[in-house]
Parts: sequence; structure tokens; C-alpha cells
Amino acid sequence: MNTHDIYRELGLSEKVIELGEKYENELRQRFEEIDRVAEYNQLKIIKAMQKARVSEASFNGSTGYGYNDEGRESLEEVYASVFHTESALVRPQITCGTHALAVALAANLRPGDELLSPVGKPYDTLENVIGIVPATGSLKEYGVTYSQVDLKSDGSFDFDGIRAAINEKTRLVTIQRSKGYQTRPTLSVKRIGELISFIKGIKPDITVMVDNCYGEFVETVEPSDVGADMVVGSLIKNPGGGLVATGGYIAGTRDCIEKCAYRLTCPGLGKEVGATLGVTRSMFQGLFLAPVVTAGALKGAIFAARIYEDLGFEVVPNGTESRHDIIQAVTLRSPERLIAFCKGIQAAAPVDSYVTPEPWAMPGYNCDVIMAAGAFVQGSSIELSADGPLEEPYAVYFQGGLTWYHAKLGILRSLEELYARKLL
Ligand SMILES: *Cc1c(COP(=O)(O)O)cnc(C)c1O
Repeated sequence: MNTHDIYRELGLSEKVIELGEKYENELRQRFEEIDRVAEYNQLKIIKAMQKARVSEASFNGSTGYGYNDEGRESLEEVYASVFHTESALVRPQITCGTHALAVALAANLRPGDELLSPVGKPYDTLENVIGIVPATGSLKEYGVTYSQVDLKSDGSFDFDGIRAAINEKTRLVTIQRSKGYQTRPTLSVKRIGELISFIKGIKPDITVMVDNCYGEFVETVEPSDVGADMVVGSLIKNPGGGLVATGGYIAGTRDCIEKCAYRLTCPGLGKEVGATLGVTRSMFQGLFLAPVVTAGALKGAIFAARIYEDLGFEVVPNGTESRHDIIQAVTLRSPERLIAFCKGIQAAAPVDSYVTPEPWAMPGYNCDVIMAAGAFVQGSSIELSADGPLEEPYAVYFQGGLTWYHAKLGILRSLEELYARKLL
């Protein structure tokens, strides 16, 4: 049996297999560029691990208080080195990206301070954290105010608006790198750097935090290379390389990270406690694999963008523009297509391939949402996954793919589903 035959057995028609080949060939040069970024980041990570003298003993976990956990300390040294920061906090006790961001914010803001987002509305889950919507324990309840300056309609920064928003209370600025589930463009590290310079030019002692979710290792530089005081993310996204079962990271200045540690654990204890229970190896190994995994996910996103834009659908980002995160949106314009697309992604999964995703009511949404994921780690969005709300314009957001081959199969399987139902 050859590759073609296995594709047939996995449910692809001749037509779709051929289409896949055509686009893969067309994208070779683009894929080479992605591989070069992955190569650079791979070397950066190996260098950091060598410098920290990672050894077999680094994989020993701790229990109880977790005092003197050398593996944990070494892992945090590696993260600091990779992100070119003075310090880092990398913990399984950080439950998700939102938690990491909440810790970083609460740790570095005090009553009477103001938080500013100069890039529009932050990720949905932060609305509760900040208190944009009323929520128990929000920053607002602790007397931290919030102000926001939206991007201009062409996606550029509203420099005048930002200058006007910065006042004597402004203590921390939050910048979200990825568009998340909005339609604005994702910010390149270069643009983030320009924004940070502008802000620090007005008020040098402002702390800048970047929500780095989905952006890690997509470029050769990170926001911490261009002036961010903290970069924050989830270990079930890019930097976990698909191997990490839970956790988050914050890398930044010694002062910021110390405050984060006192917030995550408690005053007086900080970084000194936190048992790792045997997960350290996966965090090292996941980070080691992360550049290649991120590259696979990126190739999948571009592959899908090219195919669906040629079929006449609106895709964000488009098939040729430069990429700064791994999320791909495709506007499918009908509920039938959205459902079929998700069914195809599910059918191509290594786990739960036999289940059929159905639209369902979800907290926080005013309409049903459909989700496809067959993942080794629950909710892991570095693994191939797709979802979309059942409302106009019926856009599907998809991301991930631990390997390019799986991302390719998933995208072609979704295409097959659309052809089979005569939706194209
Ligand atoms: C995923 C994500 C988060 C955090 O989400 P969690 O589901 O809590 O990990 C925050 N911001 C952005 C831009 C994200 O993509």
C-alpha cells in the first residue's frame, strides 16, 4: 500500500488528493521559509538548554512543598534564556493562559492603578479578570481601573488616542499579540516593538505585558526582545509542543516575575514552593519540540487559506500575507458548510475520530457553537481543532496540528466533506 492508497482508505477522493498535491507543491517555497524559522528557534532552545546544563536529574519531580526543585529552577532558567528575560515562572499550577495573564496583571497592579489596552478589546476571558463585565474577584473589585483604545479601522495604532489615554494612574499596558477570535490583524513582533517604544517614550516606568498566546516561535523574535516587560502564555498551546498536559508561563524582568510568584503562591513563599509531581520532563521536551510543532500548525493554516481562498471564501489571514500566529479563519457563509467542515476535522483525528460534532449551546455565546477536536490533551489548541458559532457569517476558526501531515489530512478531509455534501 502506498501513501495514495492510505489517503483513499482515510476517506479522500482522487479529486481531493490531487488538489492537496497541487497546493502543497505550490507552497514549497513558503514552507521552506517556515522551516528556516523553526530551525532558528530549535537552535535557540538547544542553546538555552545547554547553557542551563539540563541533565537527567532535571527531570526528577518534587512533592509536598517542592523546595529545592532543581528541575523546576532549571526549566525556568531555560524559559528566561529562550525569551531573553531576567526571569521566568513556568508552572503546572498555572491552570491555563487566562490564569497566567490574571496572575501577571494582579501581581503588577495595585489599588488606584490603571490598566490600559491600546489594541482594543482583549481576549474574551479577560473581561471577567479585568471587570469589563462584573465578576467576583475582578481587578475592578480591587480598585484597578481599565481604559481601552481601539485600533483604527485600517488596523493601525491610534497613537493620538493612546497618548491621550496615558495618565498619572496608568501603571500597566496589556498588548495582545494574536487576534484571537477577532477580525483585526495579528500584530507582528516588529509592530509590538514600535508600540512599546511609543508608550515608554511617553511614560518610561509603565510595565508592558504581552499576551503571547498562539504567537510563540512563529517568528525568530519574541515581544520580550522588543521591550516587553512580561510575555505570557499557555503550555497547551505553542510552547508546550503538544506534550505538556497543563501549565502556563510568564517570562520577564526579575521584579515583575518576583511579584508574579508572590501572587501565584503567596507573599513570602514566591518561587520557592510548587511541587512539580513529575511533569518537568514533558515541559522540557515539549519546549524542545515546540518550534517544529508550531511550524506544522503554520503550514496547515497557510495550506487551508490557499485552498479556501481559491474556492472563493474569505480567509483571514489570506494565503500570501506574513503570519504572526497559528489561527486561521475561513468564512464559510452557511451553517451546513460550517458543520461539514468541523465533521471533516473530527474524522481526521487520531483520538475520537468516530464521534460526530454537533452544534451546542455554550456559556458566553448567544447562539449554538460547533467544535471539533480529537486531542491527546483536553482543549489543547496546538492540536488540530476547529470551532465556530452558528451565526452569520458562519466563520470557522481553526488552528493547530502537531504535525504538518495531520494538519494536511484534516484540511483535506474537511474539503472532502464539503464536496460530498455538494456544498461547493
Ligand atoms: C488562548 C488564549 C488566551 C488564554 O486562553 P486559555 O483558554 O485560558 O488558555 C488568551 N489570549 C489569547 C489571545 C489566546 O489565544
